Amino acid sequence: MSLKIAVLALQGAFAEHEKKLSELGIESFEIRQLPDIVRSFDGLIIPGGESTVQGKLLRDLELFEPIKQHIENGLPVFGTCAGMILLAEKIDGGEPAHLATMPVTVKRNAYGRQLGSFFTRDYFDGKEIPMSFIRAPYISDIGSAEVLAETGGKIVAARYNNQLVTAFHPELCDDMYVYEYFLSMMK
Ligand code: GLN
Repeated sequence: MSLKIAVLALQGAFAEHEKKLSELGIESFEIRQLPDIVRSFDGLIIPGGESTVQGKLLRDLELFEPIKQHIENGLPVFGTCAGMILLAEKIDGGEPAHLATMPVTVKRNAYGRQLGSFFTRDYFDGKEIPMSFIRAPYISDIGSAEVLAETGGKIVAARYNNQLVTAFHPELCDDMYVYEYFLSMMK
């Protein structure tokens, strides 16, 4: 089966995801404006960056509703860091949510100044992998989703049906397991 993955390319670390997909031999293309979303694809990646900026651009470019509908119709989606914030149903502190398709609550910039960025290794879906965190959120309430990874007592990856989120950045690490996991959601 040949898969085609769309990568939301409004802001942030989208190019790094495209590079990983190409290393895996997976075709990808960028979603930058409304006409891009009518193409056919098997999965969507929402990258890290700044969730407030991406959320505003999604609305301004009228991509917000079509993307939300695709996800609600079962499209496999993978949100990293800011992407996880965009998918979360609730944001701690009362800030308005964005796509709100994933039944979890996230806390933004949740590790404080000293630990704004850090690198660790921990278990994701039972496999030890490298994890790179950059001003990352964590999941403060798992809701009805499934925990896939925890580190330092915080939930940092989760799945709910067709949705996968990580607080860390697998596109910046030398490991493909999270991508393989995401691709397996398309079978
Ligand atoms: N701090 C960013 C936000 O709140 C997320 C950081 C990231 O994606 N690396 O949107």
